[in-house]
Amino acid sequence: MTVLPIVISGEPVLHEPAAPVTAFDDTLRQLVADMFDTMDEAPGVGLAAPQVGVGLQVFVYDYAEDDGTPRRGVAINPELFISPLEIRDTTDADDEGCLSFPGERFPLVRAEKAILRAVDLDGKPFIIECDGWFARILQHEFDHLLGYLYIDRLDYEFNKQASKIERKRGWGKPGKSWMPGVDNLDD
Ligand code: ZN
Repeated sequence: MTVLPIVISGEPVLHEPAAPVTAFDDTLRQLVADMFDTMDEAPGVGLAAPQVGVGLQVFVYDYAEDDGTPRRGVAINPELFISPLEIRDTTDADDEGCLSFPGERFPLVRAEKAILRAVDLDGKPFIIECDGWFARILQHEFDHLLGYLYIDRLDYEFNKQASKIERKRGWGKPGKSWMPGVDNLDD
């Protein structure tokens, strides 16, 4: 098992678009295996390659739907189609968190439904249609590949709180990371 360090907000790779995967080789397989290990150890419901310092269009996810249906897999070179955003007060929105902004959660409105089109490790296309939390996870991970953190999408008031935390912790500049299974984030 290989757990990789997770980079924190401020690391440039998190804030720029990721490049499409062109080589479906052993290096890619190893990256994805390490990303699953890292996500499981964190633990998290999703992890994008830029979060382990790799600027490629790859994310992994692991989530169980309310009816027990497991959602675990890898999406490479994805496209995401979402239903229109409901206009509503962000204070009733569901809380979201991110392993690259660890230990914090903020409310964010996301689309209720999503359709993911991507390829797997063999370059074989697949489609997932989903809603609710899993649709939220896909929107969050897809954003990572565009160079956005969920923090960037928060309403003004919450964005201000997040910026304050970022300054206080010395994040928001390159070179910060944490190691799942080693670093305790509850402090
Ligand atoms: Zn994230």
